[in-house]
Amino acid sequence: DTIGDNFDRTVAAHADRDALVDRPSGRRWTYAELRRDVDAVAVGLLKRGIGKGDRVGIWAPNCPEWTLIQFATAKIGAVLVNINPAYRAHELKYVLDQAGIRLLVSAPEFKSSDYAGMIEEVRPQCPDLERVVLLGSAEWSKLASDGMAAHAADPSLLPAAQAALSSDDPINIQYTSGTTGFPKGATLSHHNILNNGYFVGELCHYTENDRVCIPVPFYHCFGMVMGNLACTSHGATMVIPGPSFDPKATLQAVEAEKCTSLYGVPTMFIAELAEPDFASFDLSSLRTGIMAGSPCPVEVMKQVIEQMGMAEVSICYGMTETSPVSLQTRSDDTIDQRVSTVGRVGPHLEVKIVDPATGLTVPRGTPGELCTRGYSVMLGYWNNPEKTAEAIDAGRWMHTGDIGVMDSDGYVAITGRIKDMVIRGGENVYPREIEEFLYTHPDILDAQVIGVPDAKYGEELMVWVRMKDGAEPLDAAKVREFCTGKLAHYKIPKYVHVVDEFPMTVTGKVRKVEMREQSLDLIG
Ligand code: ATP
Ligand code: MG
Repeated sequence: DTIGDNFDRTVAAHADRDALVDRPSGRRWTYAELRRDVDAVAVGLLKRGIGKGDRVGIWAPNCPEWTLIQFATAKIGAVLVNINPAYRAHELKYVLDQAGIRLLVSAPEFKSSDYAGMIEEVRPQCPDLERVVLLGSAEWSKLASDGMAAHAADPSLLPAAQAALSSDDPINIQYTSGTTGFPKGATLSHHNILNNGYFVGELCHYTENDRVCIPVPFYHCFGMVMGNLACTSHGATMVIPGPSFDPKATLQAVEAEKCTSLYGVPTMFIAELAEPDFASFDLSSLRTGIMAGSPCPVEVMKQVIEQMGMAEVSICYGMTETSPVSLQTRSDDTIDQRVSTVGRVGPHLEVKIVDPATGLTVPRGTPGELCTRGYSVMLGYWNNPEKTAEAIDAGRWMHTGDIGVMDSDGYVAITGRIKDMVIRGGENVYPREIEEFLYTHPDILDAQVIGVPDAKYGEELMVWVRMKDGAEPLDAAKVREFCTGKLAHYKIPKYVHVVDEFPMTVTGKVRKVEMREQSLDLIG
């Protein structure tokens, strides 16, 4: 199936159901209305010479037009290139050139960023870029109205373009979060991401009665695949709480739209639970949701289940390169499996855990590098065969760079990233284990552990902590006292640094690379 054909089938089955709700503007679309607008944009693009294989960039925060562009490009086989809303001019230029973007759709501005100005700045140096369409401009309205008129005049245009596509065509270039370095562009097909969205929705038991609140960015696979494609492939409703994450706006959206499902990376759920008037929101419509993207602390999972009523909440593990989800907890797993592992392998996929040094599969219970294989593995990094060959081996296994342990029933726990593992005095230390323990401290809101250079042990542990409102800041002695007798001595952090915020990616992940850099100054 192509994304366009799958979308049309959903529209045929659920024409009058809500498809999309935009909270900030109050606009809403049924599936029939969404198809009308998607088709208008699709034909508008065709009329501007954009077709199969052409790259169309989107540089905008979450908004309904993002969704229209996503499905319009998929219908005509144009390759959508998701551009991070946090990028500055030089990063924008890199992506425009690297992906060879011909048409760029962008919001004119966002927060205090002048997108239009940055585009004009780099445009003369981007020979591939032929056209820029700013959302809300006359040009955008004209693209849609031209498309609408042309579609009415010749209704065979769009079906002909759709019929020329194959599900294995590239349809999307998504950049990784840039947590461990410079973002890489993963090239994905209809087959990759449509199946992934479908199976994620299937394991969440989505039907046309579900209403999914999506505060995670569309430019990332979490919003675009696990959000939009999971919804459209099951006839569920996409609810946009706002252009970027805001805990209060998210809780308000869940209440007002009676959402049955809520998404977030762990830091988002932590912020929602810490909202001062959290208890005043009626969240009783929530049944499920997804926490993913970075390690999901057990304590936070428990609070989400108990305090937000998300009894069936599932943890997903994945990465941009695998469309993204490879492992997911199911609602019938035991509570322990659901809060402390990332579940079992998803339908039609394979996972294995290997010794990174030898490439051989390790016994169950032994940590090693998690590798995944199946329909979800990307076509490759865009225009980067060397990096592709480093990530995907000859047997089509994707090497994730994450450390996992599989138990005898196939449940996998992620214990960290190879790059974040700390080797202190010859002992492998997984920061995740220490973070989990520190979450049980009553005054700690969030804790992140890194390794810093040490003359004696090679590396020493440092923890950055965010304190709960009104709590006394912790110091090294107090942390030591809390950990002594409960953690092995070599796992007790030597340095403690209290902060208000961690350095983050836009996808809400903690950038440990940056923490490590800043820590060099802190330890002197
Ligand atoms: P980059 O590859 O640019 O450094 P990134 O790996 O963070 O950035 P993404 O593709 O957005 O970019 O994220 C995938 C990574 O997120 C995984 O490799 C893993 O480290 C982490 N991750 C995702 N889900 C989970 C989870 N449930 N538990 C622990 N870690 C997770
Ligand atoms: Mg990665």
